[in-house]
Amino acid sequence: MKKGRLLIIGCGGVATAAISKCCQNSDVFKEILIASRTKSKCDALAEKLQPGTKTVLTTAQVDADKAEEVTALIRAYEPDAVLNLALPYQDLTVMDACLATGTDYIDTANYEPEDTDNPAWRAVYEARCKHLGFSAYFDYSWQWAYRKAFADAGILGVLGSGFDPGVTSVFTAYAQKHYFDEIHTIDILDCNGGDHGYPFATNFNPEINLREVSAPGSYWENGAWVEVPPMSIKREYDFPEVGVKDMYLLHHEEIESLAKNIPGVRRIRFFMTFGQSYLTHMKCLENVGMLSTAPVEFQGQQIVPIQFLKALLPDPASLGPRTVGKTNIGCIFTGVKDGKEKTVYIYNVCDHQECYREIGTQAISYTTGVPAMIGAMMVLTGAWSGRGVYNLEEFDPDPFMDALNRCGLPWVVSEAPETVE
Ligand code: NDP
Repeated sequence: MKKGRLLIIGCGGVATAAISKCCQNSDVFKEILIASRTKSKCDALAEKLQPGTKTVLTTAQVDADKAEEVTALIRAYEPDAVLNLALPYQDLTVMDACLATGTDYIDTANYEPEDTDNPAWRAVYEARCKHLGFSAYFDYSWQWAYRKAFADAGILGVLGSGFDPGVTSVFTAYAQKHYFDEIHTIDILDCNGGDHGYPFATNFNPEINLREVSAPGSYWENGAWVEVPPMSIKREYDFPEVGVKDMYLLHHEEIESLAKNIPGVRRIRFFMTFGQSYLTHMKCLENVGMLSTAPVEFQGQQIVPIQFLKALLPDPASLGPRTVGKTNIGCIFTGVKDGKEKTVYIYNVCDHQECYREIGTQAISYTTGVPAMIGAMMVLTGAWSGRGVYNLEEFDPDPFMDALNRCGLPWVVSEAPETVE
């Protein structure tokens, strides 16, 4: 019997949005322990939210790089599940703690090792790339390896419950269930039409964002990966409620799981919009070595360039008040139903300022935090259950889609959309 008690790890932009939305659903989330590296941030958030919610909020300090610290925290608090909203670097240690304590696990981003420019790691990385068929260093194999252990322990791991991956995976399962006999192509389009007024800033953790965007692009076609240089495939798309934007093909983690889980799919691509200013800054930072994760010695101190850059850039959590415009994220599917070819576009539009007025964050934190909350809600209410480790497209999409409409991310189905060349 679930108690409605959740441990949330991390207290950054995404966690702030997820916790704010949990507090609007106190019937499901009766008690939450917010635990992160910097406890003062957890205290400040709890203090802000507690007067307006029945959810009982408590806080703790934890270093989630240490599985034993997370294990001790879980043993003391005895939550029904752990929602991991720290960084992808902590996924495996938090999963280890869930295994040790028999606790369900939910996250929003797949594992990636932290120090990928370390020479010792390069050899492992190159061997993995050959095996996987793409060279981005974030991939699901690390976490899928926990499937049997989670099943044997009788616990559930829900991987990637953000927007992309997450909602895009649920949109795919929904299209498969209600609109197609067979899906042939999937184009995932992530458009941020928002403007924060800075020449350069990232909308979520800069380190994770810049590593993702500067990796080689890749897509899935006819049973194999096709890899291309970073930002080398560009398309233009007229996004509903946002307008025409340039978008670029990226490697993205849901391609990996959808290729495995959607039978008959022939091609899966992921595109994200970027303005010229973002691309120029990123190229320049990369060229001068600021995106490196390898420590350099400077005046007697070891400095990791990308961590130093993070300290210089605006904190994504501070962009809320100044970001205006909308996001549009969704998937275009082609395939067949009852012998006829068809195309369906499922998307959500989210307004940065409306998010800010509701919970004090910009739309990127909101569009990730709401699905993270819904993923935890699916587990705590038993709407989704199972033993093992699963991606979102492997569950029944209907309760999640209903919750999106109720919880601030309504979606649209268009059956005559513009397609991407
Ligand atoms: P932030 O950098 O804003 O927040 C990260 C939080 O994790 C901070 O509170 C940080 O603590 C904490 N943290 C970092 N390391 C540790 C540690 N060792 N132990 C405990 N806590 C730690 O990131 P975001 O909120 O922007 O992103 C959170 C996650 O969401 C990331 O994994 C990101 O990849 C994912 N994401 C997923 C998306 C999706 O659609 N699926 C989209 C956007 C993001 P401190 O305050 O001390 O730094």
